[in-house]
Amino acid sequence: MERQWTEPEQMLLRMAAKYTDAELAPYDLEMAHTNRYPDGLVEKLIQTGFLTVMLPTEYGGAGFGPEVTAAMIERIAKGSASVAATLEGHYKSVDAILKYGTDALKKALLPQATHRIFAFGMTESTGGSNPMGIQSTAKRVAGGWLLNGNKVMITNGTLAEVYCVLVKTGEQELSVFVVDNSMPGFSFGKREDFIGLRGTPIGEIFLSDVRVDDDHLLGRVGQGGAIGDHAHDDARILMGAVLSGIMQHALSLAAKYANERTALGTPIGQMQAIQRKLADIKINQETTQLLWERAAYAKAQGQPYSELAAMAKAHGSRAAVAACDDALQVYAGYGYSNDYPLAHLMLDARALEIAEGTVEKMRTAIAQAELKKEEA
Ligand SMILES: Cc1cc2nc3c(=O)[nH]c(=O)nc-3n(C[C@H](O)[C@H](O)[C@H](O)COP(=O)(O)OP(=O)(O)OC[C@H]3O[C@@H](n4cnc5c(N)ncnc54)[C@H](O)[C@@H]3O)c2cc1C
Repeated sequence: MERQWTEPEQMLLRMAAKYTDAELAPYDLEMAHTNRYPDGLVEKLIQTGFLTVMLPTEYGGAGFGPEVTAAMIERIAKGSASVAATLEGHYKSVDAILKYGTDALKKALLPQATHRIFAFGMTESTGGSNPMGIQSTAKRVAGGWLLNGNKVMITNGTLAEVYCVLVKTGEQELSVFVVDNSMPGFSFGKREDFIGLRGTPIGEIFLSDVRVDDDHLLGRVGQGGAIGDHAHDDARILMGAVLSGIMQHALSLAAKYANERTALGTPIGQMQAIQRKLADIKINQETTQLLWERAAYAKAQGQPYSELAAMAKAHGSRAAVAACDDALQVYAGYGYSNDYPLAHLMLDARALEIAEGTVEKMRTAIAQAELKKEEA
């Protein structure tokens, strides 16, 4: 069953495909080698309007829904998972401000999301899985708050200009504030030297007596845990789509190579052992796609989607590592070389067993949801 897209949605997907094939895919391996985006890539991404895709029209966005937004991210990930991750980090942060920002904050900030990149910082060096372990704080001052602390491993960190940050407003109380990199006391730290998603800037920020007005609080004081959880849910749908895109990329490379490479005068694609790998990659890709599509559909319908989104990422991340490993094996010796893209695709996929909540945490969440359904 193919999703029936509207004409504007089809145009968006066609534009994403064209842009990816012309502007991203040719530089994907270079990004993995140089650990950075090529000059001009981010500017082009902004000019082409990709930051605006899910932003409502009242704020200057294109106003597309969650399903086509994720489908577009999947298409981009087929050429560059790094760029797809940058968009994912931006969209989930914009979504959090849309859901929890005051009208004043939304009016002031969201029109800027068309040309300034946003990010969400929860993790600290003391640990990412257990938010109560963070040490950043916000203290009440007249008419606002004073923020102090340090966030690490933020997707788009060092590139983004607007950050949602999770901080403690009490010993056992978490809240989320929005800060701008132009605020006094805001500074950047180091960019992570991660083994995958090497194009994406992922890095550290410092907050030293950063003063924000009251309306920079998202939701209510003490609602930070729930806001962080919702941001993760939104992110996991998009990450499911990124993983499906990575697998489409790996499958396309492996199938082409299997048609061209011969052994004993026969294309290796005619050998059952190789065919089995191609089939397994396809099964892994389709199952992941079905999961993220189901989660995105539930979100679009206003139904619960947390568990579905967790399944899309928990299943998709391991499935994608296995799929890239299968594709690497089709290439064999060349697959193991950094001159070819299979190893970096596998490491891109591997990041998503960690980012936006580890697979361990997600399995706990899925199991808890199932246990709850059977409670007396
Ligand atoms: C590519 C990438 C992008 C990222 N982007 C962002 C971002 O945009 N914003 C951001 O805030 N962070 C980001 N992170 C950080 C990421 O969210 C954390 O790495 C992740 O939450 C795990 O935290 P940790 O690394 O501190 O590991 P820890 O929390 O120290 O966990 C270590 C191990 O213990 C397990 N564990 C810990 N607690 C539990 C538990 N309660 N139940 C079950 N298992 C548990 C974990 O699953 C893991 O295997 C990113 C990370 C990566 C790799």
